[in-house]
Amino acid sequence: MNYTPKMLKDYLANLGEKSFKQTQIYEWLYQKKVYDFDKFSNVSKTLQEHLKQDFNLDFIKIEQVLEGPLVKKFLFRLLDGEKIEAVLMEHDYGLSVCVSSQVGCNMGCRFCESGRLKKVRNLETYEIVEQIILIEEYIKMRISHVVVMGIGEPFDNYNNIINFVTIINDAKGLAIGSRHITISTCGLVPKIKEFMTLDWQVNLAISLHAPTNEIRNKIMPVNQVYSLDILIDTIKEYIAKTNRRVTIEYVMLNMVNDKEEDAEALAKLLKGMNVYVNLIPYNETAHIEFKRSSKERIDKFFNILKKHKINVTIRKEFGGNIKAACGQLRSESD
Ligand code: SAH
Repeated sequence: MNYTPKMLKDYLANLGEKSFKQTQIYEWLYQKKVYDFDKFSNVSKTLQEHLKQDFNLDFIKIEQVLEGPLVKKFLFRLLDGEKIEAVLMEHDYGLSVCVSSQVGCNMGCRFCESGRLKKVRNLETYEIVEQIILIEEYIKMRISHVVVMGIGEPFDNYNNIINFVTIINDAKGLAIGSRHITISTCGLVPKIKEFMTLDWQVNLAISLHAPTNEIRNKIMPVNQVYSLDILIDTIKEYIAKTNRRVTIEYVMLNMVNDKEEDAEALAKLLKGMNVYVNLIPYNETAHIEFKRSSKERIDKFFNILKKHKINVTIRKEFGGNIKAACGQLRSESD
């Protein structure tokens, strides 16, 4: 179902139903996992008929599961035949799922596999929620953390992502805490501004990947629309408004953005900001010419940031052998 609690309450009000019916419907769907309106025993026959007419409870389907150490990649078939992927990761702090937000992606980041396919369409809210429900059902365990870092640009599907987060965060929905949810964007400035007005506790991650316009223009076409300076100002505004620390993602591309001077420039750019930098070892793919930085180059970069007192970590790697790693997801299986 695509409806947030508020949307469902409005729908019920229109039918002259009491608003507490909303929590009962959510309990059936998200807690008892009953997907047949006829079985909603505390709901009147009349309301059941309305629900049947107005909502479709058909699920997307798991088509394939690939398993690696501490990681599983799920390929889903959507009702219209399109395909998307999500990845489950076992961390020491819990189970996290990386969900897709679109079929394909229009951002065209040069180093990313998902971006090689143009966007086919946005995912609907229920298609994002069901990735989590189906994975929970498959592993018979609760998911504690969600990252919107799969195929697609979440802020290019803004309303559905906001509704998705509202549903999974709701106490009668999937009850996943705001601080356990992370949305990652390549830097769609107007949407970051809109997002900050919500004043949520959800984590924001920015795919920065370069310390100068010169480099960023070469690898991320979005930079030609929202340049680095505007993006950094927006992140500063976001931090001031929400008081939340922002994650800066930085994929390490050999000889492209991993030089010592790049680390120095990045440290200068981020100086004094409440951010934490996540260096991502690049996952090479067959069709793309970029190469992964060596361990020595990553360590050197890391140490320069440290020296400048920037919070920095190197991302733990998952899923390389089953092509479930960052940037390796695509909407068509190979
Ligand atoms: N569109 C959003 C969500 C995708 S998140 C965004 O850009 O933030 C996926 C993250 O993995 C992004 O930071 C992306 O830049 C990074 N990435 C893409 N291709 C990669 C690759 N081959 N290796 C490592 N990271 C990659």
